[in-house]
Formats: sequence, structure tokens, C-alpha cells
Amino acid sequence: MAHTASISQLQIPPWALVNGELVRYEDVRIHISAEALTRALSVFEGLKGYWNTAGDVFAVRSPRQHYNRLCRSAALLHIPISFTYDDFVAGLVKLGGQLLVPDRDLWFRTTLYVTKGHWGEGTAADLIVTAFMQQKRDPHPMRLGVSTWRRGADVVLPARVKCSANYIGGRLARIEACRLGYDDAVLLNEAGRVAEVTGACILIVDKGRIISPPTSEGCLDSITVAALEQVSRELGLAFERRPIERTELLTADECAVAGTITELTLVDEVDGFRFEQSGLLSQVRQRYLGIMRGKSALPGIDLVPLIDKADLSGSRAEDRDECPTVAAAAG
Ligand code: PMP
Repeated sequence: MAHTASISQLQIPPWALVNGELVRYEDVRIHISAEALTRALSVFEGLKGYWNTAGDVFAVRSPRQHYNRLCRSAALLHIPISFTYDDFVAGLVKLGGQLLVPDRDLWFRTTLYVTKGHWGEGTAADLIVTAFMQQKRDPHPMRLGVSTWRRGADVVLPARVKCSANYIGGRLARIEACRLGYDDAVLLNEAGRVAEVTGACILIVDKGRIISPPTSEGCLDSITVAALEQVSRELGLAFERRPIERTELLTADECAVAGTITELTLVDEVDGFRFEQSGLLSQVRQRYLGIMRGKSALPGIDLVPLIDKADLSGSRAEDRDECPTVAAAAG
């Protein structure tokens, strides 16, 4: 069976934001000698913004946590940051104001590209923000395969640093998975336990408990998993962070992948082992999506209003070149 295309969708938008200034998307430039290109030196975040159910307020989930994680990734790679949280959010408002349409959500990618310096001396980076319209549709359950590629150790390429270089292994695993007819790949860590998938974390259900590996197992410190943990507890469900063996994954009752753009997407099968589709994880999913659409709130999960419908220019999705792609970056 052929794999289904990636959940995120990319287009060629008219605008990007470079260090706070709007620049035509086609005119954004990075020099070939920049360490962003010669050493894959860039750190990034993917943020999702949602229209509420009434369709009049557009809010972005957890911008503070994304900003903090971007700062932490940058600090670990010795990349200086010269903008505040308020500058960061002002950038989302500025670009969102140009690109948002009433009938689509928006996924922002905020990337710090190292554009100056050499081997850690004189390092400076540009903050470039891009954003892509996302259709409000439910993804199909996913089919996964366990990859022959693995997440490296913390002393090799730390998974908690959200840097482009970390996605080279993920890309190899995704290509391998697609060749075998899967939608995505499960990456094991060096010890052979479950780390994550190429652009999202993993959750399983075993004996009525929801389980996800901690960051020390080789996954990103996911903002979505933290939110899902709160949702689960609110629903009275047990949620554990602990290592997961490969055979525990294969024999789990339920399985799903979680990330900002992936939200909580149920998994149908891993390597031919099949999972239940209407259990605890689908309850957690419904509740999480309801919070994202502003139907209800949960303390600790921030939805920060960015833009009112009344402030939009009136353009619609059909006015834009919308091209879904399988090569979308991770959320
Ligand atoms: N792991 C990887 C490798 C990812 O790219 C992502 C998406 N950012 C995640 C996990 C999920 O993290 P978050 O929930 O913070 O988006």
C-alpha cells in the first residue's frame, strides 16, 4: 500500500519575515558561505495557529514554550539571540496579518540561520519566519515501520536541540519508510528502545495507561506531549513518562504520534502489528482539538490570540497557490 502524504502542507507564500521585516518570499537570501549552509547550523520551531470555532479569533498555541525552546536550542549551539519574547510574537502577528485567510489555519516556522561567524567566533544569526496555510481536515490513521536508522546519543547529536542537522537521520528514515509503503518511521535509540518518529513523539496505551518516552530516550522535549499529559490527567487517565521497549510498542493496545502539526494522530499499525482506533487516545485527541479551537480551556495550555477576523484583508485560500507536498518539514 502506498504511503499517504505528509500531514503538513506547504505553499509558496508571498511574504516571509527576516529579522522583523517583511521580505518577498522569493527574495529571501542566505550566502553559500554561511554556516547555516556549510555546517547545517540552524535551529527552529514550528508553531500552529488555529481559528476558533466561531471563526473570528486566530490564536497560536504555546508561543512562550516555543520561544523558550528556541532559546535553549540556540544556547546549546552557541548561537546568540538578540530578540525578546515580545519581538518573537510581534513577528508572528506581522507575518500572520499578511498571510492569514479566514478558511485556513496557519503553521509558522521560525528559524535562526547562522549567517555570520566561523567555528563559533563572531557568530550571528538571522531569524526568518515563514508560514503556510493548513486545511482543517482530519488525517488518516498512520502506518509506521521501525527504521534501521536510529536517534544518536546525547553526546553525538542531542535530540533536545531542535536543529536542522537532527533531521538528516529523520529524512533517511522517512525515505526508507516510504519505500516500504509506510507513512513514517519509528526511530529507536542506541539502546534499541523507542525514541520517536521522524517529526513527532510516540504515545502508546498499555493496561489502561498512556505512556510516552522521556527526552532522555532520544526524543524532542515535545510541547504537544506536555499538553496531552495535562489533557489526559484532566480526563482522569493515567499518563507515564518512561522508556518503551520495541516489543512493548508492537503489542500495545493503542498507539499515536504527537506534535504541534501532527496534533495527536492515531496509528493503525507498526510493522504489521495493529492497534485499536476508538480507545483512550481518541478521547484525548477530541479534547485536545476542542481546546485548540477554543471550545474550552485548560490551565497550562496557552492559546494566545494574535489576529481578529475583522482585521483581515479579505483574501481567500483560493487566491493563493496551494500545493500540498510530501516533503514538508517536521512540526
Ligand atoms: N520530535 C521531533 C523530531 C519533531 O520534529 C517534533 C515536532 N516539533 C516533535 C517531536 C514534537 O514536538 P512538539 O510537540 O513540540 O511540536
